[in-house]
Amino acid sequence: MEIGRGRTILVAGGGIGGLAAASSFANLGFKVRVYEQAEDFREVGAGVQIGPNGARALEQLGLLPQFGKWAWRPPALAMRDAFTGNDIVRIPLNERFIQRFLHPYSVIHRADLLGILLEACKAHPAVELSNSARVDAIEEIGGKVQIRLNDGSKVDGDALIGADGLRSSVRRELIGDGNPPPPKYIVYRGVVPRDRIPDEIWSPEVVMWTGPNADFVHYPLRSGEIFNLVVTFKASRELDPTDISGSRDEMCAPYADFHPTVHRMLDQMTPDRKWMVTDREPKRGWSRGPITLIGDAAHPMLQYMAQGACQALEDVAQLISDVTASAGDLTPAFTTYAEKRYLRTARVQFSARQMIEMCQVSGVLADLRAKYFGGRTEQQLYDGVAWLYSPHQGERFA
Ligand SMILES: Cc1cc2nc3c(=O)[nH]c(=O)nc-3n(C[C@H](O)[C@H](O)[C@H](O)COP(=O)(O)OP(=O)(O)OC[C@H]3O[C@@H](n4cnc5c(N)ncnc54)[C@H](O)[C@@H]3O)c2cc1C
Repeated sequence: MEIGRGRTILVAGGGIGGLAAASSFANLGFKVRVYEQAEDFREVGAGVQIGPNGARALEQLGLLPQFGKWAWRPPALAMRDAFTGNDIVRIPLNERFIQRFLHPYSVIHRADLLGILLEACKAHPAVELSNSARVDAIEEIGGKVQIRLNDGSKVDGDALIGADGLRSSVRRELIGDGNPPPPKYIVYRGVVPRDRIPDEIWSPEVVMWTGPNADFVHYPLRSGEIFNLVVTFKASRELDPTDISGSRDEMCAPYADFHPTVHRMLDQMTPDRKWMVTDREPKRGWSRGPITLIGDAAHPMLQYMAQGACQALEDVAQLISDVTASAGDLTPAFTTYAEKRYLRTARVQFSARQMIEMCQVSGVLADLRAKYFGGRTEQQLYDGVAWLYSPHQGERFA
């Protein structure tokens, strides 16, 4: 299939979205040049959860077999009370879940997922990867694109995909909504070897301990040999997004009253750095002429639906499908793609905000949450996530 006809796609950003787009456009016969500002292609942080919709996107992009080799399949998602240690709700990820959503729920180390995408790019002679290359300026000239890099050089392409994350330069050019709002939450994360987690604490599930203004998530990675730990709490003061130094006091303070099991796991973490997370208001208009946005550049979201990477992969699958349907006519394909995607991703962005408000509660709100979830059947729980995970028309929104 020679849809690309040797034309050149420029990609700003070599994260999950950018690399997935690069190998997929190369598969269509485009030349692809990826510019990544960091010194190497690297994912910071530890695990990432990939719901059935993310797995479906990987399947569409031909990357599912590689993903399957690295993924861990947890038997359930559990939300647990931070004080009592009792489950508030448990979503089984069993055969009935897979029958309904056609793919399992998985977790994977970010480095492994990025490695799969990087290998797919490196295996393709049409993909050129550049590091320490920041896209500083963008110009549309006669239906094509010219970018300027941090070393002053200029590169021409037939189209540009902005996959440059939360502080996207391409978004600045297309949407112009300024810097993202100040960080709202502080995250500490890391992995520890299996043997540092006592047997009575280790669990094959994705578990979230929730308490007032803070939660703690853990799950195994790879074949269970490492354990992923994630601390998230509400920022109590205005944060400087460039100050990433961490401390044990800061990390542990919000968890003082949490269950002793959480303390035992916190003891295993190395709090030398932190991440600060925020999102943006959903916006339409991700495409203009031969330029479009994907992933966090288009729809940055809080991590509470575990969907940022999944939505980036869905973006790429939709983009490839629209470019194929238009027989490679990029401008109309980019417009169609953005129109198809913006409401679904906006719903995930809003849902992630609602979810964090529902997780980190106390008092009457916590009682209400327990009541709301407590009596739910498996069927009702699956119905609640069908809009996100289901491939079936009618169960999907947008
Ligand atoms: C704590 C936490 C937990 C999460 N958990 C999950 C989860 O379980 N499941 C899930 O699906 N998602 C999860 N996410 C979200 C997910 O990590 C992101 O949505 C996803 O990584 C976005 O990928 P991206 O490629 O769009 O952007 P990024 O990963 O941000 O990549 C953008 C890349 O562009 C580069 N760049 C930036 N500007 C420029 C420029 N001007 N020129 C060149 N390069 C540039 C950056 O260096 C970076 O490498 C989580 C996020 C957080 C913070």
